[in-house]
Amino acid sequence: MKSGTKMVHAGVEPDPTSGAIMTPIYQTSTYVQTGPGDHKGYEYARTQNPTRDALQKSLAIIENAKHAVCFASGMAATDTLMKTLNPGDEVISINDLYGGSYRLMTKVYAKYGIKFTFVAMHEAEQIRQYVTDKTKLIWIETPTNPMLNVVDIRVVSKIAKEHKALLVVDNTFSSPHLQTPMDLGADIVMHSITKYISGHSDVIMGALVCNDNAIAEELLFLQNSAGAVPGPQDCFLVLRGIKTLHLRMEAHCRNAETVARFLRNHPKVGKVVWPGFEDHPNHEIAKSQMKGFGGMVSFSLKDDTFEGAVKVMKKTKIFSLAESLGGVESLIGHPASMTHASIPKEEREKTGVVDSLIRLSVGIEDPEDLINDLEQALG
Ligand SMILES: *Cc1c(COP(=O)(O)O)cnc(C)c1O
Repeated sequence: MKSGTKMVHAGVEPDPTSGAIMTPIYQTSTYVQTGPGDHKGYEYARTQNPTRDALQKSLAIIENAKHAVCFASGMAATDTLMKTLNPGDEVISINDLYGGSYRLMTKVYAKYGIKFTFVAMHEAEQIRQYVTDKTKLIWIETPTNPMLNVVDIRVVSKIAKEHKALLVVDNTFSSPHLQTPMDLGADIVMHSITKYISGHSDVIMGALVCNDNAIAEELLFLQNSAGAVPGPQDCFLVLRGIKTLHLRMEAHCRNAETVARFLRNHPKVGKVVWPGFEDHPNHEIAKSQMKGFGGMVSFSLKDDTFEGAVKVMKKTKIFSLAESLGGVESLIGHPASMTHASIPKEEREKTGVVDSLIRLSVGIEDPEDLINDLEQALG
């Protein structure tokens, strides 16, 4: 089945009691049993919920995987995966990963005796020297935030397999429409559903996706044991969002390309980062593993000052100044003072997060309006 048809139909079947084409919101905490232990497969809503089941089925299908398990946020999904580790285990992680994942690893799980090593991965072979017989997970994100570095999933998967470590890919920035890491050798895919999959800036949710039955069973065990489950209303909203994921992603990609090319020709703009440019250092890898280059664009100003960037961000009218990404509306953000504020200036500048760096989550509005908005703000 092709991507668009999959997005519209994945996991959703007419409701058995009424034939409702949309999966109902089963807003219930428990299920009546006809006798002790005699029930329809549902006992208590932390453990199972039909709306959540439909969403989990859908997520597995759109990621070309066998299993998906949903959580109350992207961080709750990552937290669950960390709980599968034991003291002494080692994790190799990309060095410019999402700040929240970095915080969870270094501030929460490091103290339980798990060792995290953060490595630059634009040349994936470099990972090899850090792998030991204790390495249990290799954690990558591609493209990364906000510098849009792209990691070669196939190469990292090969290294992981050689060492019997699991490869986890945070696929949030790509969405399953543009990239399906399971097809490239990933063992587990993590999502902040909050972003593109939900797509309408109204839900916080996360998911883990895998093929291995034993891993899925452990994740479901932890989902039930720790209890960070999403509510049925949110599951319904995400099921609705998935139906247009392919259309939205194509519009995000088109608009991001238009915006990136406009910025590149603007006299006040310094560097523009977008994986679709042929001179992006990982352009060929992006082309080989993604169906499109995504909706994110980062750029700096020629006059590289903090104040200059703040001025631009205060002036945009369609681009709203806010954290997050992946919604239908365009957002503008300043990594140096927002997502990366806790990282010392010298450290963040080493990875390209300079004072004037601006990150755009390009929405699906009309591209002319987006260009005009940026033009007047830069002016
Ligand atoms: C937002 C985000 C997360 C965390 O997800 P939440 O839903 O906010 O908990 C993880 N990884 C990436 C790449 C993100 O953008």
